[in-house]
Amino acid sequence: MTKKRPNRADILGCLIDMISMEQALAAIEKMIDNGKPNQIITLNAEIVYSAQKDRGLREIINSAQMVTPDGIGIVWAARSLGCKIKDRVTGIDLVHRLCQLAATKGWKVFFFGAAPGVAELAAQKLTGEYPGLNICGCRDGYFADGDEENIIKEIKQQTPDILLVALGAPKQEIFIKKHKNKLGVPVCLGVGGSFDVLSGIKLRAPKVFIKLNLEWFYRLLSEPSRFRRQLALPKFALMIIKQKYMSRGNP
Ligand code: UDP
Repeated sequence: MTKKRPNRADILGCLIDMISMEQALAAIEKMIDNGKPNQIITLNAEIVYSAQKDRGLREIINSAQMVTPDGIGIVWAARSLGCKIKDRVTGIDLVHRLCQLAATKGWKVFFFGAAPGVAELAAQKLTGEYPGLNICGCRDGYFADGDEENIIKEIKQQTPDILLVALGAPKQEIFIKKHKNKLGVPVCLGVGGSFDVLSGIKLRAPKVFIKLNLEWFYRLLSEPSRFRRQLALPKFALMIIKQKYMSRGNP
């Protein structure tokens, strides 16, 4: 994954690996065997839209070692632009599959982010679900800039194989990019609001919404404050339609 990445789609200047969950897990296993630090981003349309005005964010996305298609907006965009894409690889599904695998492989996982107590609660739920899972540390995501060095020390001391960072996008992506090499953790993954859902303090969309690819709509209904953020979605769709017709005109 880190060296050869032939199957990447360019969506508005953001490169995304068109991989399945199984391919992502296989590549992650290799990263852990190799031991060098890697950044993984589960990308959605809102982040791609923000990256249009933020060159630094675009550079973070394009320098990550793996970028998976998280939202249905990305899947739709990739297909509209003629790329073969299997399915979504969402942050929360990746956390479940990684924890399941970590329990059998003996990998250590660190949970960093969300409000005080939430990471611990999520960790407790997951160790119940995947016996043998070694969660080597938890730390909430509310800190002053001056605390970053102590947080890095705290994480490093536990020598995790996987670091889950739940600070929301793009804060978590910026944190990982800035500290990845110092942390030396093979797999650093931004997981957004996943701890809130895993801990049970927030509900994931009912299965029918997920199946119909309307998870974004459920989030909007349950958190109307996200309305402003989600205004990015129709603008993203218009940009994709424009990219599609421009590339038709310039084969
Ligand atoms: N968060 C945090 N520190 C911050 C800001 C946010 O730990 O300074 C946490 C917040 O408590 C929540 C998560 O980051 O658990 C963001 O969730 P959201 O659903 O907004 O993220 P998204 O998945 O949309 O990126």
